[in-house]
Amino acid sequence: MPIRFLDLPTLLGGTLLQAPATDVTIASLLLDSRRVGLTEGALFFALRGPNHDGHHHLAALYAKGVRLFVVSHAPASLGPFVGAGFVQVADTLAALQALAAQHRAAFQQPVWAITGSNGKTIVKEWLAQLLAPDEGICRSPKSYNSQVGVPLSVWELAPGRHTLGIFEAGISEQGEMARLARVIHPTHGIFTTLGTAHDAGFASETDKLTEKLQLFEQSGFELLVYCADQPAVHAAVQARHLPALAWTRHEVPGAALRFRLKSTTAGTTTVRVRLGETSATAHFPAEHLALRAATRFTLPFADEPSVENALHCLAVLLWRQLDPAKALDPAEIQRRLLRLQPVAMRLEMKQGRHGCYLLDDTYNNDLAGLALALDALSRQARPGGRTLILSDVLESGLSGPALYARVLALVRAHGVTRLIGVGEAVSAELGGAVLQAEFEQTQLITQFYPTTEALLADLRPREFQNETILVKGARRFGFERVVAALQQLQHGTVLEVNLDALTHNLQYYRQRLHPGTKLMVMVKAFAYGSGSYEVASLLQFQRADYLAVAYPDEGQQLRENGISLPIMVLNPGPDSFEQLRRYRLEPEIYSLERLHDYLQAAHEATAGTAPLPPLHLKLDTGMRRLGFDENDLPALLDQLAAHRVQLPVASIMTHLAAADDPAHDDFTQQQLSTFQRMAAAIEAVLGRSVLKHALNSAGIRRFPEAQFDMVRLGVGLYGVEAGDESSRNLLPVSTLRTTVSQVKTLPADTTVGYGRRGVATAHERRVATLAIGYADGYDRRFSAGAGLVLLHGRRAPVVGSVCMDMVMVDVTDIPETQPGDVAMLFGEGLTINELAARIGTIPYELLTNVSERVKRVFVSE
Ligand SMILES: *Cc1c(COP(=O)(O)O)cnc(C)c1O
Repeated sequence: MPIRFLDLPTLLGGTLLQAPATDVTIASLLLDSRRVGLTEGALFFALRGPNHDGHHHLAALYAKGVRLFVVSHAPASLGPFVGAGFVQVADTLAALQALAAQHRAAFQQPVWAITGSNGKTIVKEWLAQLLAPDEGICRSPKSYNSQVGVPLSVWELAPGRHTLGIFEAGISEQGEMARLARVIHPTHGIFTTLGTAHDAGFASETDKLTEKLQLFEQSGFELLVYCADQPAVHAAVQARHLPALAWTRHEVPGAALRFRLKSTTAGTTTVRVRLGETSATAHFPAEHLALRAATRFTLPFADEPSVENALHCLAVLLWRQLDPAKALDPAEIQRRLLRLQPVAMRLEMKQGRHGCYLLDDTYNNDLAGLALALDALSRQARPGGRTLILSDVLESGLSGPALYARVLALVRAHGVTRLIGVGEAVSAELGGAVLQAEFEQTQLITQFYPTTEALLADLRPREFQNETILVKGARRFGFERVVAALQQLQHGTVLEVNLDALTHNLQYYRQRLHPGTKLMVMVKAFAYGSGSYEVASLLQFQRADYLAVAYPDEGQQLRENGISLPIMVLNPGPDSFEQLRRYRLEPEIYSLERLHDYLQAAHEATAGTAPLPPLHLKLDTGMRRLGFDENDLPALLDQLAAHRVQLPVASIMTHLAAADDPAHDDFTQQQLSTFQRMAAAIEAVLGRSVLKHALNSAGIRRFPEAQFDMVRLGVGLYGVEAGDESSRNLLPVSTLRTTVSQVKTLPADTTVGYGRRGVATAHERRVATLAIGYADGYDRRFSAGAGLVLLHGRRAPVVGSVCMDMVMVDVTDIPETQPGDVAMLFGEGLTINELAARIGTIPYELLTNVSERVKRVFVSE
């Protein structure tokens, strides 16, 4: 049943503030003012979070064409919102969820909900892959499992097209699951794993479990699939008498399915299926099970998590065998299981050739996935063309003109300038003459190819210059070949930067800020080695207030890539003021000489040139590096008094010398009080108050009372904070990987490398040579056992000296190592903190040392 805007006051228990010019059916839900796609029928919910308030963006949304709004606070005046509809509710998030729950209620088919600590997304994707031939499936895009992600996912259920829903539910606090349960209202469920990860939002493991199981304690709930080998979960499900199908890899009583596993040398696992005792299988009567013919399946995985996730799916498939209408030939089940592939749902961003930038998303291609990928494309700040290379779109229950009309609407809504379609369907639907004429008018360039091979034969990378290119294809189109053709050549070493982890760390620090405290983020030194433009673009999207770089050239590069946030430059040279003016870069002024340069440049400005950007006064309160110290203050005040108009002071700042170390807290407090005293004197002369800031990452965590008006976040954003016990709240952002070039078996008494520093051993050993050296930033102090790398998840010590482009490691205990294997230099399981400690340096140095010749790849879910 379509829901119309004028139904909302009753449905949501709200008040109609203003009716829209015409009442329309709600077509899509919109939460983020930066992601406006289609405006027709789009309903905006103004959500409020700790750092963000959707109410601030109503005018901008209206300007983009959005006409339907749900708010908790009425705008001061509805005057500017001619023709728009407004409903006011007490809580906009609750209203969003209520609307989704209403929509869900109209869907009469099975809805599966998946929760647990790990594996939710993979189990969901695999279950969808396994059932796709038989069902029209609606599933959460990527891992949309939160309080807002779930309602958005459930909203996509279309009764005519879908026969099955599969949604993930993820929670972090008490009380959240009941809300998700009302939205999903599952008929079936899977509980993956309980997990032991520290969860701040819960008092105990039991609390967490109790909370999660609420998902399945709904009226009309029919079946929970779970692994009985987790005693706490097994006991809790039984105590609640939930209708359940438990499986075990051991002999756990009460489990209806017993899986006996054997891994093979080919990297697969065979599963022998037996039935548990019948008494416990009320929900799984053995006599009905058409399993006798084939009770053995092969899974195309050997690693523990993949096997576990696949077994959940196998249990569901076996349960479906009970229904004659859904039962499959066991050989067909086997065929489908073998087609399962590791889920790489990440969007990867890479440097392309000829100044292009690639967004590589070749996992699946349905409407929801396409919309998300186009969002990512439109979030890129870079100027220049936007190309979409698109395969046929595979959407459950929708095809032909109806499907491609939606595809085209999405393409148009996201500012694509060139569309390259690959596949029979997209060519037939969008390649026709009538549309072509229309495309010409709207200046959308299009090309179509029946196959990926045809595109590759015709692809001229040179024809793509300084563009942002989204490569979006279903797996069977093999678009990784297209990416390879457009990508810059790489040697084997890659620094992978996880943008989701970066966002997580940003939120961690943001939650520590008082309301109204501004956030400056340091992206100096190539964003601590992580890649300036990409990090800055993310920060701009995440609404940081300010960026800071060390030198004007870094700022210029950000501007040329479309970054529009205010940018402060820590170290402007005496001759850089024209560059600062041209690129609107705000200098840090740390000495009377620089102040003089600034005044000079302001004076030389000819009529018609833009004024100099505002400046930031740096005070030295104890760092003894850059800045005015207290002795300079009288002279500074004189200058400020004499040139108040020519010196637009944007902020006053200082830098703490030891904010991370409690041993120096007295010193830090002294720095802070000196800062306040000096800042007050400056403000007195200026006759107004200006922004003040002092805290770096460690300071944000340790001196919340000294936030002043702004803080300067640095290394913590990148996932490390020197000497910080709370680092477990941060996620590692960077992973450095390289490949094995050669493996040698060395007899006893053999030395390795330059200077024969890899001393001879009494026994035979295997040594692998890796394609990374100190010229890539792999520190030479890692020589001779000081450093370690991870190969096949195990630690291999460095043998001998690190060379310029290579390093040797001992893999005697990792016998499966062979050329082409990937070795991890740092990342999850081998932290930068640990490695820095091993060679007596700080994490900052390891991060920033990774040379620019190492390619950066940016990933996000
Ligand atoms: C680098 C820097 C910061 C950030 O320091 P972190 O320790 O990386 O958080 C803050 N302020 C100034 C002036 C800096 O140079």
